[in-house]
Amino acid sequence: MRSATVIGAGIGGLAAAVGLHRIGWRVAVVEQAAEIGAIGAGITLWPNALRALEALGFGARVRELGKPQESVGMRTSSGRWLSRLDGAEIERQLGRPMLGVHRAQLHQMLLDELPADALHTGVHVTAVGRDGAVPGLDLPPADLVIGADGINSQVRSQHWPDAPRPRHTGFAAWRGICERRERTEIGVSWGMGREFGLVPLVDGRIYWYVAMPAPEGARNPDERAFLREQFASWHSPIPELIDATPPKALLRNDIRHLGGRLKSYVAGNVALLGDAAHAMTPHLGQGGCQALEDAVVLVAACARYDEVTEALAHYDAERRPRTQQIARASYWAGRLGPFLTNPVAVALRDTAARLAPGSAAVKTFMRVSGWTPPPINGLTS
Ligand SMILES: Cc1cc2nc3c(=O)[nH]c(=O)nc-3n(C[C@H](O)[C@H](O)[C@H](O)COP(=O)(O)OP(=O)(O)OC[C@H]3O[C@@H](n4cnc5c(N)ncnc54)[C@H](O)[C@@H]3O)c2cc1C
Repeated sequence: MRSATVIGAGIGGLAAAVGLHRIGWRVAVVEQAAEIGAIGAGITLWPNALRALEALGFGARVRELGKPQESVGMRTSSGRWLSRLDGAEIERQLGRPMLGVHRAQLHQMLLDELPADALHTGVHVTAVGRDGAVPGLDLPPADLVIGADGINSQVRSQHWPDAPRPRHTGFAAWRGICERRERTEIGVSWGMGREFGLVPLVDGRIYWYVAMPAPEGARNPDERAFLREQFASWHSPIPELIDATPPKALLRNDIRHLGGRLKSYVAGNVALLGDAAHAMTPHLGQGGCQALEDAVVLVAACARYDEVTEALAHYDAERRPRTQQIARASYWAGRLGPFLTNPVAVALRDTAARLAPGSAAVKTFMRVSGWTPPPINGLTS
């Protein structure tokens, strides 16, 4: 039986581990957090992520957890619609809906499919050998080591000593979840140098996020009061959503990305996956979706090739160009979109968004989300 050690139990690491388990590999997943999935935020899964989850056998389950978005649109800070696409039309053209999902539920869905003894929590990995050995843990030797340990990847630092470092973008993100029963449409609202996005979830709650300039590491004594003041004049329901969010349900992170491109996602039998390989800004909502695509391609390659090195060569060739292109597009989507501050540039941006035909927006969605997963030989559910 072939085996893998996976460092990191985020979306990418868990998806890869479940996929390998389902093609008959023995897996060990090592995670620093004591508890997995206690993550109070939502995530948008694009059609490409749904296809990835379907390929791993989660099609029906994720549709139960996710709320298909009825429409997708863009507004100004005063609430004027600049563009609006019907959710059914997106689904017709892209073949799948966009789903709003609670992260904790997505994690739980993946976790439920792992054998209980595969998971080792509360272990901060400081080094991992090419045989999958982790100091302090008694793990069986592994044929494959996967670094799925996020933007600050320890696996990357150890096995890719010349890799680019994570870089602060000059912006921070706030995320919250609140109760709101009234019908709300998914959408982003753009002001000068900042954005507010909201995503309805399946249980009637709303996941929302903010991105705006902030020094690295800065914190406010009361983040909710700070946001309330910053968005006081923005259109409804933005101030109401902030008010309705319990302070402890509010997350704040610096927005960082990998400050350059890796020359390979593979070093011997070690592979990087998800944010460890290509941490990107969140403006296209693709970081998690790409981690899921990575996992599927890696699992399919492991099922197809007898040699791990062959499988990894295929994985690298398949994933690096696409993910690095999307990371670049995501960076510019922020810079040329919500983060513009010059009033003339903002007016031009808004006019362009208003005049662009809906078909152009669908084409843009299509370029990113029109991805088809490879078949995974021998996958059992
Ligand atoms: C504000 C914001 C909004 C976003 N919205 C979206 C969205 O709508 N859609 C989307 O697809 N993506 C979105 N993303 C991106 C998405 O969250 C990430 O790309 C995704 O979570 C990456 O998954 P991952 O498994 O690669 O890494 P992570 O989720 O970072 O998981 C890494 C795991 O490794 C563990 N770990 C780290 N170091 C160690 C160590 N040394 N030892 C042991 N364990 C370790 C961590 O605890 C963690 O559990 C957003 C990101 C932000 C910041």
